[in-house]
Amino acid sequence: MSYVHTTLRALSLSVRNLFRTPTTVEYPEVRRVRAPRIRASFALVHDAEGDEACIGCLMCERICPSAVISIKQAVKRESPHTGKKRGYADDFTLDLQACIICELCVQVCPEDAIIMTREQEQPGYEREDLFLTMDKLYANEKNKSLSWGRGKMLMAMQDPARPLEGAAEAAPKVAPKAAAPTADAPPEKAP
Ligand code: SF4
Ligand code: SF4
Repeated sequence: MSYVHTTLRALSLSVRNLFRTPTTVEYPEVRRVRAPRIRASFALVHDAEGDEACIGCLMCERICPSAVISIKQAVKRESPHTGKKRGYADDFTLDLQACIICELCVQVCPEDAIIMTREQEQPGYEREDLFLTMDKLYANEKNKSLSWGRGKMLMAMQDPARPLEGAAEAAPKVAPKAAAPTADAPPEKAP
């Protein structure tokens, strides 16, 4: 009797589940609206002159707690855009597999050269798919929507004595609950 009862309960649960609204979606075909402050991947960007903004200072590599950034510093050379001698990175890689999304690399960048993106990388089947090469990082500048957070702005926001013009306006307005120190944004609601 108990066996029959249990079987019937399981069957009824299965039938009910058939008609429930799914709590998951078929990513990447279906993409949910993400929270405004989400950070998912990274981009390297160009400066106002069209030059690579990264000067190869190694600050991001040194601060990364997961040691997933690797930079090959270039010998200083003249910028083809301004003619001024400056540093460059000959190679720049970031392994997303062990990144803890702390954003420290962005916060220490003196040139606003590395920025987090609001879109994650495509799902992949190989470990290499989550290894961001310099080419992938610069491609993300064009292909992905970038977070509002920039190094200089984030530094200024943490130092009220030296406010940076525009920082308050650029930061997205969030509800008080989402503004708690460790919360980035309210969790997304299931459809
Ligand atoms: S977000 Fe944190 S863990 Fe990820 S690369 Fe930047 S510093 Fe390293
Ligand atoms: S991304 Fe920024 S912090 Fe990292 S090496 Fe380039 S200029 Fe320095």
